[in-house]
Amino acid sequence: MPIDDTPELGFASLAVRAGQQRTLEGEHAEPIFATSSFVFANAAEAAARFSTATGNIYSRFTNPTVRVFQERLAALEGGEACIATSSGMAAILATCMALLKSGDHIVSANAVFGTTVSLFNQYLAKFGVATSYVSLSDIAAWEAAIRPETRLFFLETPSNPLMELADIRALADLAHAHGCLLVVDNCFCTPALQRPFELGADLVIHSATKYLDGQGRCVGGAVVGDRQRVGVDIYGFLRTAGPTLSPFNAWVFLKGLETLSLRMRAHSEGALRLAQWLEAQPAVARVYYPGLPSHPQHELAKRQQSGFGGIVSFELRGGREAAWALIDSTRLISITANLGDAKTTVTHPATTTHGRLTPQERETAGIREGLVRISVGLEDVADIQRDLERGFQCLASYPGPFSAREEATLR
Ligand SMILES: *Cc1c(COP(=O)(O)O)cnc(C)c1O
Repeated sequence: MPIDDTPELGFASLAVRAGQQRTLEGEHAEPIFATSSFVFANAAEAAARFSTATGNIYSRFTNPTVRVFQERLAALEGGEACIATSSGMAAILATCMALLKSGDHIVSANAVFGTTVSLFNQYLAKFGVATSYVSLSDIAAWEAAIRPETRLFFLETPSNPLMELADIRALADLAHAHGCLLVVDNCFCTPALQRPFELGADLVIHSATKYLDGQGRCVGGAVVGDRQRVGVDIYGFLRTAGPTLSPFNAWVFLKGLETLSLRMRAHSEGALRLAQWLEAQPAVARVYYPGLPSHPQHELAKRQQSGFGGIVSFELRGGREAAWALIDSTRLISITANLGDAKTTVTHPATTTHGRLTPQERETAGIREGLVRISVGLEDVADIQRDLERGFQCLASYPGPFSAREEATLR
């Protein structure tokens, strides 16, 4: 079912149907085309496909299962074209390699995925692409960081792990006024909760590893955008350099997309209930969740997102010792750095995802020792609360390093 013929379909219908073209076998579910190459009827057909790069040729850059995933994700984001990649990082690399050249400059939010910072600073820098970092929500800082050679704005919203938001519309306007592209890593919200193109973004990046899969099985990624930049330029990089998504992983993500809106709604409902409950815990100094009225950007979140997402972070009064004690007391929740899974996961950002930062950098970024991040899964929220309750009971008898005065400053 080519998506162009079905413009009237809603999001949930596109998530189930977009991109599928049945073969002569009449299969109902999308097949996995586990083949590295494709046969041609004759030499002339082979020559024609190679010269136009259309039709099935070789699975580094053309595979029908991968194509269905690309068309479905493009339909959900509302973009013209999508290129799937072997990981979320490969999607960011492919975007930069295809669209930037030596001498170009990126302005990035400082609160982006740690490996993205490493990619920019250790690798792109080697090839003459410099990156400046600014506070996600400080529009004036973005503007001040623009240079004549700036080509790209890069951000994630909400950010990891403090759930800070960027005003996508405002940053898109600023980027365009200076001839730059706005790239949004839409990993935390997915198109089920946030559609960056409607707010002016030019490219959307995904780590499909997270919510698009939704069950923690495969690593993959994607870039969505317009026909020229994604369909030609980034496709050309993929074809040449080969950070290709496997057909099997594409199929897993395709099946993940079918339940995406249901899952994101359930993750959001669970996370809101957990966040409200956490706010009432005496051991908790502060909860970071855009769905809470206490979140400084709650109004922006209501405007920009259709749900608040599944990630909740919170600051324990007892610092690292309390955070580790709480994490270690869990029996149901998985201690793992991955997120976006049906299984609830917990992590201590200061010593894992943000462990490479210096203490000073962590302090500036607001990643304190007492911070805990939870990716709320699809279990019963009551069971997640019970699992944390045991840890909170231990903490009640534990004084913690903060005095009452220090606590007041945390509030
Ligand atoms: C995980 C993640 C990535 C990287 O994706 P991989 O699939 O692990 O390569 C990029 N951005 C965000 C926001 C992520 O959470």
